Amino acid sequence: MAMAELPAAQAAVLADVRALAQRAPRVCVLSGAGMSAESGIPTFRDAMTGLWSRFDPAQLASEEGFRADPARVWAWYAERRAGLHAAQPNAGHRAVAAFGRRRPGVLTVVTQNVDDLHQRAGWPDTIRLHGDILADRWLEPCPHGRACAPAQARPGQPPACADCGNLLRPDVVWFGEMLPAGAIDAAERAARGCALLLVVGTSGAVWPAAGLAGVARRSGARVAIVNPHASDIDDDAHWVLRGTAADLLPRLLDA
Ligand code: NAD
Repeated sequence: MAMAELPAAQAAVLADVRALAQRAPRVCVLSGAGMSAESGIPTFRDAMTGLWSRFDPAQLASEEGFRADPARVWAWYAERRAGLHAAQPNAGHRAVAAFGRRRPGVLTVVTQNVDDLHQRAGWPDTIRLHGDILADRWLEPCPHGRACAPAQARPGQPPACADCGNLLRPDVVWFGEMLPAGAIDAAERAARGCALLLVVGTSGAVWPAAGLAGVARRSGARVAIVNPHASDIDDDAHWVLRGTAADLLPRLLDA
């Protein structure tokens, strides 16, 4: 498919970012929901298609919401999991993974996404800040001080421990929860150590992930944003490319 031509100023930005990507000793990609939008996974905040425009985040993505109505939250996640199983990595995920394989030791991918599309595109070492939507974990520590029994499936309800009734919940970071310490530490190290941070498809509204652009910039990296719309962290960037992940990442990263 022929690529659309960019306006001259954007073409010059693209050439600059591309030149740095191809020679930088360390490149970090920070992705958000927009990275997977062209794989058919809805973003959270896009006004027309965003999940939050149809649902109340407090009820569906918080521990409080899960405790109030586990069946409803479980069903919502089951639907999102089915959507993910039907989705494929897009040209953006593939360009990132191919770039990393071509330049061993250069690339770190940090994602806010709970999908597995970077991994399926061929970058298994992706640092996941917000967990894994395809995995489960127990809601509570086992009250008997040991591991819970294998979870029993229950129609229309989250699986439960046969001994104590503990519920399984999706292994994602919900509103108000801490990020996995190892993941955010590794992400900050990558942001501090890279020469180029490529921020793709994030609104920059969710912290501490949004702070990584500032961390990278203060540490001397150049920061480039790929997003069709304005984001809250555009001011942290040296370069802003207005376009989509699947269109621009191959242009920036392919050999
Ligand atoms: P967000 O929904 O807040 O923002 C999405 C951003 O992507 C917007 O700035 C939008 O302009 C941009 N965008 C839309 N289409 C794009 C495209 N084709 N190419 C590039 N950019 C595009 O998402 P966020 O900033 O990642 O933060 C919110 C939270 O959403 C994260 O915690 C994440 O876990 C969660 N989330 C993840 C997924 C997923 O795993 N795929 C999906 C929805 C939400």
